[in-house]
Amino acid sequence: MDARRWIERFSELVTADAERLTRLDSAIGDGDHGTNLDRGLRAAVTALDADLPPGKVLMTAGRSLVSKTGGASGPLYGTALRRAGKAIGDASELGATELGTALRAALEAVKELGKAEEGDKTMVDALTPAVAAYEAASGEGVPAAARAALDAAEKGAEATVPLQARKGRASYLGPRSVGHLDPGAASTVLLFRALADVAD
Ligand code: ADP
Ligand code: MG
Repeated sequence: MDARRWIERFSELVTADAERLTRLDSAIGDGDHGTNLDRGLRAAVTALDADLPPGKVLMTAGRSLVSKTGGASGPLYGTALRRAGKAIGDASELGATELGTALRAALEAVKELGKAEEGDKTMVDALTPAVAAYEAASGEGVPAAARAALDAAEKGAEATVPLQARKGRASYLGPRSVGHLDPGAASTVLLFRALADVAD
């Protein structure tokens, strides 16, 4: 698995879907999620030199996201990737085991920083089932585990629609946040779609 291609693919998918992410954020936030993440990921891709080991790729991308992405999601995605990279250390390959370690560390970083639990209508609602599904299928290899994670992320994101937001800007809307897909959960689906696209 090529970590750099993963980040590049995530960036491509976010660029392609930036308008939709922003529209979702306009409904229950301030309408900047797509542009925020697109800007941060473009910066991350630019910061990635060829031939970095996977842990360094993820840490470098994470640092760019923290500094270049506005909003709540920048520090959350950025810290997630930094911790993911740190967790795999100097590993020369991103195999099924290292990726599992990275994903688990990413989830824990998001929860620690954002203090959201499943059901709060945030990216945690897509990330938690995706990481669990990845772990359950990781014995089958990266491509199969990535597909299982994508499937779980999609279901988790969809399940945010009927929820009332309890974290982030959308929580200011109270019951009016019900009936909308959470934008961060939608972008988390793209993170796993990117993984499934490049997994080999
Ligand atoms: P902002 O809300 O600051 O404008 P973005 O629009 O870029 O930031 O991102 C909004 C997304 O960030 C939300 O849809 C949600 O998924 C995620 N988010 C916000 N606060 C939290 C939190 N405390 N924990 C986890 N995710 C959060
Ligand atoms: Mg926003």
